[in-house]
Amino acid sequence: MTNFKDMQPETLLAQAGGSIDMQSGGVVPPIQPATTYVRDESYNPLNENNIYARPHNDVVRQAEDVLAQLEGGTAGLLFPSGMAAIAALFRAVPSGGRVVIQSGIYWNTTKWVRDFCERRQIDVDEVDTSDAAALAAVCAKGPANIVWVETPSNPWLKITDVAAAKKAADSCGALLAVDSTAASPVLTNPLKLGADIVMHSTTKVINGHSDVLGGVLITKKITSVWEDIVTDRASAGAVMGPFEAWLLLRGMRTMALRVDRMVDNAMKISAFLDDHPKVDSVLYPGLEDHTGHALAKEQMPGGFGFLMSFLVKGDREMALLVAGKMKLFHRATSLGGVESLVEHRHTIEPHTGIPETLLRISVGAEHADDLIADLGQALGQ
Ligand SMILES: *Cc1c(COP(=O)(O)O)cnc(C)c1O
Repeated sequence: MTNFKDMQPETLLAQAGGSIDMQSGGVVPPIQPATTYVRDESYNPLNENNIYARPHNDVVRQAEDVLAQLEGGTAGLLFPSGMAAIAALFRAVPSGGRVVIQSGIYWNTTKWVRDFCERRQIDVDEVDTSDAAALAAVCAKGPANIVWVETPSNPWLKITDVAAAKKAADSCGALLAVDSTAASPVLTNPLKLGADIVMHSTTKVINGHSDVLGGVLITKKITSVWEDIVTDRASAGAVMGPFEAWLLLRGMRTMALRVDRMVDNAMKISAFLDDHPKVDSVLYPGLEDHTGHALAKEQMPGGFGFLMSFLVKGDREMALLVAGKMKLFHRATSLGGVESLVEHRHTIEPHTGIPETLLRISVGAEHADDLIADLGQALGQ
C-alpha cells in the first residue's frame, strides 16, 4: 500500500481509500455490506478487526483514516450526520458540567446544545469567540468541559483565532473543539493551530455533491473523552453505513479541485457584490476590509472559503425578490456542494437577530462569469 504520510493533501485525496484493492486489483475501494463477520473453528475471528458491522466496517474506517490524515489528527470517527457528531461530543460532558459555545453559529447546533444541556443540568455560556478577550473572560469564570468554536461562522462569517481560543480553553481545563465545516480540511487544519478536536458536517463540501449526510470528529490525541465517544458510538449505534462511506470517499477524491474552483469563484463574486450599488455590505473573509481578514489569511492558507453573506439595500421584500429572481443559484439551505445555493436565513431563524436583508450564498463550481451574470440580473443592474 502507498504511504501517503509524506505526500500532499491533493495526492491523498485523489487516491482516497488507498490506491488499489489488493483482492480484486480494482483502483477504487470495495464496499462490504455484511452486517456480521465469520469466526473459524477455534472461534477466532477470520479478521480480528471485524466482528459486527455496528462498530466495524472497512470502508468506513478508510474514510475516517483519510480525514484524520488530512487534518493531522490521530483518529477520526464518522457519524450518520454532522449533528450526530456534535451530539456525540457533547454527550461526553458529565451532568453538572459547563460548556462555552460561540454565539451566532449554525442555528441547529445552538438549539440542540441548549436543549441537551438543560436536560442534563450542564451550564451553557454563549459568547462571541471572535472577540478573544470576551472568550478569555468567560473561561476565567470557572472550570469547563468544552469550548466550542465555529470558524468561519455561519452565516456571519466571523473568524475566531484558534490559538487564542486554545489558551482560553486551557485556562479553564476545557477541550477546544472547532466546527470547521465552512472551511474544509483543504483550506485550514484547526488541530495544527491548537484545537483538540475538529468536527465537520461531511454532508457539505467534503462529500461535495449534496447527496450524502454525514459528520466526522477528528482528535489530536487519544484522551479518555475520546475513548468514551468511541465506546458510545459503538454501543449507542450512531454509525455511518458502508454505502454512504463509499460515496463519501468517492466525493473526497475531487475535494481539492472543487474547493480550489469554489474559492476562486467566491473571491470574484465577493468583489462583484462589494462594488454593486444595490448591495449594502458583503460578509466574506477574503475581502480586505473584513474584520477577520488578516487572521483568516494566517489560519486559512489555502483560501477564504466558498460561503458568504450579503445585505441587500432595502427591506425584507427586496431581499426575497432578489433571491426569487436567481436562476442559477438554487433557493435551498445547506452549503458546500458543486451547485451554488442561496438562502434567506431570516425566514429559517427569525428570532436570532439575522438581518431581514441578509442573503447567504454557497458558491459552487460553475463558471464565475455565469454566477456573476445571474447575481447581476437578480439585483437588477
Ligand atoms: C450543516 C452543518 C452542521 C450540521 O450537519 P448535518 O450534516 O446537517 O447534521 C453543523 N455545522 C455546520 C457549520 C453546518 O453547516
